[in-house]
Amino acid sequence: MEKVVIVRYSELHLKGKNRGYFERVLITNMEKALKGLKHEIKRQSGRYLVEGFDDFETDNIISRLKKVFGIHSLSIALKVKSDMDEIFKASAEVCSLDGRFKVETHRADKTFPLNSLQISAEIGGRLLSKFKNISVDVHNPQFIVNIDVRENGTTLVFNEFFKGAGGMPVGTSGKGLLLISGGIDSPVAGHMIAKRGMQINCIHFHSYPYTNMQARDKVIELTKVLSQYSCGTKLHIVSVTHIQEEIHKKCNGEYMVTLLRRFMMRIAERVALKCGAQCIITGESLGQVASQTVEGITSSNSVIEKLPVLRPLCGFDKDEIIERSRDMGAYEISIQPYEDCCTVFLPKHPVIKPSLESVLEEEGKLEVENLIEEAINSLEILSL
Ligand code: ATP
Ligand code: MG
Repeated sequence: MEKVVIVRYSELHLKGKNRGYFERVLITNMEKALKGLKHEIKRQSGRYLVEGFDDFETDNIISRLKKVFGIHSLSIALKVKSDMDEIFKASAEVCSLDGRFKVETHRADKTFPLNSLQISAEIGGRLLSKFKNISVDVHNPQFIVNIDVRENGTTLVFNEFFKGAGGMPVGTSGKGLLLISGGIDSPVAGHMIAKRGMQINCIHFHSYPYTNMQARDKVIELTKVLSQYSCGTKLHIVSVTHIQEEIHKKCNGEYMVTLLRRFMMRIAERVALKCGAQCIITGESLGQVASQTVEGITSSNSVIEKLPVLRPLCGFDKDEIIERSRDMGAYEISIQPYEDCCTVFLPKHPVIKPSLESVLEEEGKLEVENLIEEAINSLEILSL
C-alpha cells in the first residue's frame, strides 16, 4: 500500500487541440513547485499521480500544489492492487472511526469482476462489521470512502478532496509586467492575472534615499509570495528619485503623483518590451484614490504606446481585495508600514481630476526623455 497524491486538472479539458500543450506546461509547473522534494509525477488518464515521496512531506506537497494554477482538486490516496482484500485494507485505513458514511466507487477497469455498485456494497458491508461506531447514510454522509479502480490493475482509495487553485497553467497565456508597490492591491492583481495562465514579471519604483531599504525588502518579500503562484518571477527595480526631485523643483506640486505615474508607465512599457512581456498590469481600482479616477487613469494611460494595460481590480471594493490578499498569503506583509515613492513630496491636495491639457503643460517643464533613460540605466533585476 503506497501513499500517493491525486492531481485533477481544471479547464484544460476544454482546450481541445491544445490539451497536450497545456498538460506539458502544467507538469513543468508542478515540477517547479515540488523542487527539492523527492517525488515522481505520473500521468494517468486525465489526472496525475505524485508518487515516491516521503510520508512526512505529504502536507508540504499538498500545500505547494495548492498554489499551482490549472489544478482543480487534490486528494491524498492509498494505491493498492485491484483486489478486494487489498481495497478493503486501504478503505479501513481511510475510514473514520465513527459517523455516517457511504462508499463511492468509480470503475474505469471494466474487466474487474464486480461493478461499482457491487464494490461499494461489499466494502461498505465489511467496514460496518469492522467498525462498530459507523453507520451507512447514502444521502447525508459525514464522510465518503472513495474507491477508484483504474485500468492498470491498481486502485486508489481516498476520503478527502482539497480544492486546487483553479485557473490555467502559468505560461499558457503569455507574459505580463506587473507594477508592484508595497501595498495590498498590486500583488493581488498579479495573482489574478497569473491565474489566467500568464507568467508575471514585476517592476518596482523606489525613491531611495527618500524611501528606505525596508521598503525595498518588503517589495522583495511580496514578490516572493507572488512568485510561488507564477512559477518564479523577475523583479525589476528602478529608481525614480531624480524624476521626483525634478518634478518637485520645476512643476506644480499638485501634479506630483499624476506626473510620476506617467513616468512609471513609460518606463514600464519599455522594460516590458525588453523582457518580452506582452502587457502591463496594475493594481488600480476605479475611484479608490485621487490618481485612480477615470481622469487620472486617462492621464497615465495616454503615455502607453504599444501594449494593453490590464487592471484586474478595477471593479473591486477594498474589502474584496483584502480577502484575496489574505487568501494568497500576502496580506500580513502588505500591511507592514512602509513608504512608497508616491508618498515622497506628496502634495497636501493632489489634483483629483487632472485635465490632460494641464498635465501636458506641467510635463512640458521636464526633460522627459533624459529622465526616463537615466532611470532605466539604474535598472536592477532580481530573479525570485
Ligand atoms: P497598491 O496597494 O498596489 O500600492 P494603492 O491602492 O496603494 O495600490 P496606488 O498607490 O495609487 O494605489 O497605486 C496604484 C497602482 O500603481 C499600484 O497598484 C501599482 O500597480 C502601481 N504602483 C504604485 N506605486 C508603485 C511603485 N512604487 N512601484 C511600482 N508600481 C507602483
Ligand atoms: Mg500604493
